[in-house]
Amino acid sequence: MTDDSRSVADLPARWGRAARTASLVAGVIFCAGLFGILTRPVGFLAAFWPANAILLGMMIRSPHLASSAGWSGAFAGYVAADLVTGGALGLTLWMTCANLAEAAVGYLLFRRLSEDHQRLRWPQSIMLLFAVCCCAAAASAFIGAGAARLVFNRDFATGVEYWFGTELANAIVVLPVILTAPRLRDIPWTTRALATAADGRDWKPAAALAVCILLGNLMEGPGSFAFPVPALLWCAVSYPLFVTAALTLVFSMWGMVIVTGSFATLPPDIDLLTWGKSIRLALALIALAPLTVASVTATRNELLKRLQDSVDHDALTRALARSAFIERSERLLGTPGSAAVLMLDVDRFKSVNDRHGHAGGDAALVAFADSVSRALRKDDLFGRLGGEEFAVFFPRTTRDEAMAIAEHIRRSVEERQVDLGSGHRIPITVSGGLTFHAAPAAPSLDALLARADAALYRAKAEGRNRIVAYRG
Ligand code: GH3
Ligand code: MG
Ligand code: MG
Repeated sequence: MTDDSRSVADLPARWGRAARTASLVAGVIFCAGLFGILTRPVGFLAAFWPANAILLGMMIRSPHLASSAGWSGAFAGYVAADLVTGGALGLTLWMTCANLAEAAVGYLLFRRLSEDHQRLRWPQSIMLLFAVCCCAAAASAFIGAGAARLVFNRDFATGVEYWFGTELANAIVVLPVILTAPRLRDIPWTTRALATAADGRDWKPAAALAVCILLGNLMEGPGSFAFPVPALLWCAVSYPLFVTAALTLVFSMWGMVIVTGSFATLPPDIDLLTWGKSIRLALALIALAPLTVASVTATRNELLKRLQDSVDHDALTRALARSAFIERSERLLGTPGSAAVLMLDVDRFKSVNDRHGHAGGDAALVAFADSVSRALRKDDLFGRLGGEEFAVFFPRTTRDEAMAIAEHIRRSVEERQVDLGSGHRIPITVSGGLTFHAAPAAPSLDALLARADAALYRAKAEGRNRIVAYRG
């Protein structure tokens, strides 16, 4: 087949894909547009217009949608939502251009950022998000302000300010939710997995936010929407960024509803447009605080996790470090059930170092630790006690099971030829001392280690490359 005939044969599939992309984007934007129009106070632009931020978020998360089919679908979605709710065609097309300009400018700028920044993984990402949203809202405001003039008969500068503030607020509160949302395939959909994820979560910050929102409703005055901010910050230090972004969205939507709802109670000499514009801008800027706090908290937690991991694990073999092994084993020993301890020591390891250098010895230790890890079950603990001495703690185990695993470890170490990196392979062997305790009288871990060590001593004395069980 020639290239031409192949591309002709591909046409129906490509058209099918383009049609699916266009209808998906059109459907989402149509629904988001309708939602925005329904929140519109009579004679005003929408109080909450999430469509542009949703379009931008979709394009960033799924770049394959940012094709001519995707953008055409968005155009159709905006126009259809406005026309079915009685919009005039000229004004509709004008506003659609403004909406598309916002998403397009946002997309072009976001595309230049690293994936980490696109997912808001660093505190600086929130500042970049703010900068991109400002540019996107400004592009939209300059195109849309003329149309706004027709709607509420104000001068161009007021229109730009109003449109900019509203779009900035929408983008800052909606985009983070989309950018940080877990992928559908990463969500554990079973009720058990979801229950485990929810288990141990602190509900107090979310409950405090709900109470503050309810109390905020009872307060009067333009500043009342800020009442839940402390609770929102508490959520930000307690929950992952996505949850904080979703709660910030709820807070901001509530704030916008409060702003809109309080229009009727304002003294007649107050200019509603100026008032609404200013409060919406304040909401947008307040939303940056919980997002930044959540992002700093997430970064700090990630670094602490990495630090804890390197404290808990031996850098060379990735076995548990001595202190972590002892702490975890003692914890398991405190739970009911039988347990076994195996002490392992590589045979004649000094001669490995002598013949192949310290680096060769290190490679042998890494291979040895790998063989042991592969032989263990999920709950068994494997630690490096020092030098080439290691220990395994088997929780809730029978004597026979522990002996079988110990023997399996010994055999797999013996059968494995250690690759020293230069293509040179050497055999190594290991000796082990095993001790077992049955419930309920648990001896101390020190006593178990001493017994395992005594058995190991006998294994060495009896000729090495063997597992010896402790006999008291
Ligand atoms: P045995 O069969 O009796 O155990 O003989 P051995 O030669 O293995 O004797 P021993 O266990 O006393 O030797 C331990 C040696 O392990 C001494 C030390 O040089 C070496 N060693 C300890 N830690 C490391 C390490 O991290 N890397 C390397 N390459 N060698 C280490
Ligand atoms: Mg040794
Ligand atoms: Mg030793």
